[in-house]
Amino acid sequence: MENIDTNVSGVCTPAVGEAGRTGEWRELRPVIDSTKCIPEVKGKPACFLCWLYCPDGVVSMTIPVEIDMDYCKGCGVCAEECPPNAIKMVREVDADE
Ligand code: SF4
Ligand code: SF4
Repeated sequence: MENIDTNVSGVCTPAVGEAGRTGEWRELRPVIDSTKCIPEVKGKPACFLCWLYCPDGVVSMTIPVEIDMDYCKGCGVCAEECPPNAIKMVREVDADE
């Protein structure tokens, strides 16, 4: 995985808070299709709108893009903002089938 220096102030790193691993509340899970994700397709840093718009700061600015499922709430903002529709929201109950 290639790490990209974000160096953006105001973006915090998720951590265990009083509410614990809040991703356990999630009903929908974002699944990234690497064949559509722009950084993976181009092989270089690009797009990262999912990283920019995620309200929980749980998306990495890396290639491949990774989502911290311990804290992702399943809100679907990343899927809404993804230009090539590379992110699909899948029901948790169906995700492991
Ligand atoms: S918004 Fe979509 S295409 Fe852009 S980096 Fe995220 S998953 Fe990839
Ligand atoms: S579903 Fe919501 S919380 Fe999870 S990665 Fe996408 S934007 Fe972030």
